[in-house]
Amino acid sequence: MCAIVGVINSEGAAKTAYYGLFAMQHRGQEASGISSSFNHHIKTIKATGLVTEVFSPASFEILKGNIAIGHNRYGTAGADSLKDAQPVAGNYALGEISIVHNGNLINKDEIRRKLVSEGAIFQSGMDTENILHLIARSKQEHLKDRIVEALNQCVGAYSLLILSRSKMFAVRDRYGVRPLSIGRLKDGGYIVASETCAFDLVEAEFVRDVKPGEMVIFEEGKDEFSSLEILKAAEARICAFEYIYFARPDSVVEGKNVYEVRKKLGAALARKCKELKADFVVPVPDSGVPAALGFAQESKLPFEMAIVRNHYIGRTFIEPTQEVRNLKVKLKLNPIGAALHGKSVVVVDDSIVRGTTSKKIVELLRHAGAAHVHMCIASPELKYPERYGIDTPSVRELIAANMSTDEICKFIGADSLTFLSVPELVEALGGERKYSLVSFDGDYFIKD
Ligand code: 5GP
Ligand code: MG
Repeated sequence: MCAIVGVINSEGAAKTAYYGLFAMQHRGQEASGISSSFNHHIKTIKATGLVTEVFSPASFEILKGNIAIGHNRYGTAGADSLKDAQPVAGNYALGEISIVHNGNLINKDEIRRKLVSEGAIFQSGMDTENILHLIARSKQEHLKDRIVEALNQCVGAYSLLILSRSKMFAVRDRYGVRPLSIGRLKDGGYIVASETCAFDLVEAEFVRDVKPGEMVIFEEGKDEFSSLEILKAAEARICAFEYIYFARPDSVVEGKNVYEVRKKLGAALARKCKELKADFVVPVPDSGVPAALGFAQESKLPFEMAIVRNHYIGRTFIEPTQEVRNLKVKLKLNPIGAALHGKSVVVVDDSIVRGTTSKKIVELLRHAGAAHVHMCIASPELKYPERYGIDTPSVRELIAANMSTDEICKFIGADSLTFLSVPELVEALGGERKYSLVSFDGDYFIKD
């Protein structure tokens, strides 16, 4: 998962992009970068680390101009994160260009093999670089047409921002798997971002979402943007995991506030767990908090923050080895013994991936004196690797792909374990539309 942001027709665009990236730090913590266009030249600064570590006041003396795009990278273990940091910038027949990408191209290896066999040289392992090559090799006269030609060769999920000297192009794949929204800045400029929480920070007003298969073109000095339908329309499928885990609760994804959706997921879980006897509901902070609140409100059980989170630590999932992950859960979460002693508790988390977090939490809660621990998960079992932009682990590592619910319950040491079913998830999300549910049902629907 990654965050992308673009700003145009606004003074100090790079600074605004920086704030946008800061608001979307949760979507990627491995690397960060910004490109800006000034005096017909594109400059890029990117490095590994958090947004606040990558940029300093001096960065913005380099990143001048009224147009900028930025990216936060969410990486997988072992990847060369500096080489794979974005934006990906280059120089081609029509001049300078820079691209940021959230998503994953599933035919990237095929495209790359073909390009390499024809003599292309790649700088990174990123699928985003494929797009740059395809644009550069197109014989079309205008960049817009080159982008269309390039994307028609790509299969996968993507939200993209492409910066030329004086234009910014925003594109979403034809299913709209990854979010992308347009906002208006107070000075009349535009901001485009993965999540609307970026707009709130810079006081931009939400205009609308980029539509699946749409290309929105923003031009320097032009007040209006234009729109083209560039990809064959398909039934839109926003990724359900954006609501479950990824997006910030204060973001609105495709018209739905993430916090409200998470509360509904928790309420659905409570209805499923009516028989459970417990003294109170405890969230696994931070990601489990809204669902736990929804659970408590629906079940009328008290809500207790009996697990405290240390905020000065990154997300545990990102750590490469199992030992470090184990230690990190402990570094991150600590139960409050005084609140838990002798109590029966419902613990609510958003998801189980490898089972590391749940196992550790049950262990910590029991150690703190909890009498009964009922684990309730506000999503279905993750059984299939997501290939559309979330780097969930292989089938071998996904615990629900290898164990039944009873076996997982035993493995994590809980008294009971409940997941939402896929229909319950869809109902809580809002059954009026389709979602990308690949992690849960294995329906890899992007084929062409
Ligand atoms: P586990 O410990 O089972 O491997 O992971 C479960 C925890 O990781 C949950 O608390 C959940 O909030 C978080 N999580 C779920 N999916 C993802 C993901 O794709 N990336 C990251 N960083 N964390 C995740
Ligand atoms: Mg979590």
